[in-house]
Amino acid sequence: MDTPPVPGKRQSAAARPEPWSSFVESDPEKMARIVMKFGGTSVADIGRIENAARRVQREVEAGHEVAVVVSAMAGVTNQLVGYVQETSKIYDAREYDAIVASGEQVTAGLMALRLQEMGISARSWLGWQIPIRTNEVHGKARIEDIDGSEIVRRFGEGQVAVVAGFQGVSPNNRIATLGRGGSDTSAVAVAAALKADRCDIYTDVDGVYTTDPRIVPKARKIEKISHEEMLEMASLGAKVLQTRSVEIAMNHGVRLQVLSSFEDKPGTLVVDEEEIVEQQVVSGIAYSRDEAKITLVKVADKPGVAANIFGPLTDASINVDMIVQSVSPDGERTDMTFTVARTDLDRAVQVLKSNHDKIGYESLLSDGDVVKISVIGVGMRSHAGVAQTMFRTLAEKGINIQVISTSEIKISTLVAEEYAELAMRALHTAYGLDAA
Ligand code: ADP
Ligand code: ASP
Ligand code: MG
Repeated sequence: MDTPPVPGKRQSAAARPEPWSSFVESDPEKMARIVMKFGGTSVADIGRIENAARRVQREVEAGHEVAVVVSAMAGVTNQLVGYVQETSKIYDAREYDAIVASGEQVTAGLMALRLQEMGISARSWLGWQIPIRTNEVHGKARIEDIDGSEIVRRFGEGQVAVVAGFQGVSPNNRIATLGRGGSDTSAVAVAAALKADRCDIYTDVDGVYTTDPRIVPKARKIEKISHEEMLEMASLGAKVLQTRSVEIAMNHGVRLQVLSSFEDKPGTLVVDEEEIVEQQVVSGIAYSRDEAKITLVKVADKPGVAANIFGPLTDASINVDMIVQSVSPDGERTDMTFTVARTDLDRAVQVLKSNHDKIGYESLLSDGDVVKISVIGVGMRSHAGVAQTMFRTLAEKGINIQVISTSEIKISTLVAEEYAELAMRALHTAYGLDAA
């Protein structure tokens, strides 16, 4: 994993004294610098913006310097993406960014106005105004640099900065967005650049759970989760934090908390592994519906075939995730099954069909009705039998595993979409994660 060149590297979270949560007593005399991020449901209408603004007011009145990062109102980004797709099938990514970034502009302005109405000095900031500089990968840009100097200067004048999340400015001076869910990354990167004392992610759940609480009602809130596990959870589908935000928090020692914007209670702290006293073998279960499976039937079982299949997909910027090659009964032909993002399925099929002669396969099967279910835990490094529990549990429910992949701290299986909820609930119970 690379270290992003966001300025403001600070000591690791492990080296700091606890506590840092806003709900835990801290030195009332000491002023802190805080980044508060509000997601789409937390700013879904004017009333909710007011609710979020009251939380900001509380921190300002406690004497803290505050930068607020806001998402678009719930549903707005989806609607804007829809407009793009209706207008242009294979769209220009720079125009996509110009359109979809607009949702955050509205909420940043509204939040600044609301704060002003409360008598708080506040100013909104778009990505280019700060600036938040990104690379040129429009639609999924990475932050390269943030100049926090003007915001810090205005903190000195008692002003709150309201930053539009999800956006920056690319080297060609155009608006760039950071990928879906990217406001989390804006918030953590701004916190790193401003050398903030903490970054609070306010959302519609009161923390990170053992799995998505909307799918498994018995999911349990996790008090502290390690960066490594949170990274895996996020990259395997738990959308509560964008993966990149966790990477930046880990690399820059940003103290990160996920908490509810509707209830006053402690959330989940994302911390270094050494800070976790009682380590579970499996700490969470994630799922991703953004999966599709492709099988090439009867490809030649000889050197170079995998390169012929995956080379053209790589050239088309299509990522292949899980791969399984079946045993060849005659030593000559084999089936190759692999997964791609569901959004890439049509393109992948097109690429493979146009390379049919070069690859040499009898037929191509594709299936978009699959989900990837993953169990995650750093304890897997030292405990055997975790995979076996997963396989046995799914077998007992009559759920067929289509593809398996593993890494040091996770096991993923691909199953038919219709079994997603049943599989997640059964696994949650099997690993002893159910709430009492
Ligand atoms: P926001 O708009 O605040 O950014 P998101 O919808 O992006 O919120 O993320 C919060 C959602 O993430 C929750 O409503 C929940 O359904 C989902 N989620 C998925 N996995 C988890 C998990 N392990 N813990 C908590 N929430 C999760
Ligand atoms: N509004 C953007 C999205 O829906 C960014 C975010 O909410 O984090 O993806
Ligand atoms: Mg989000």
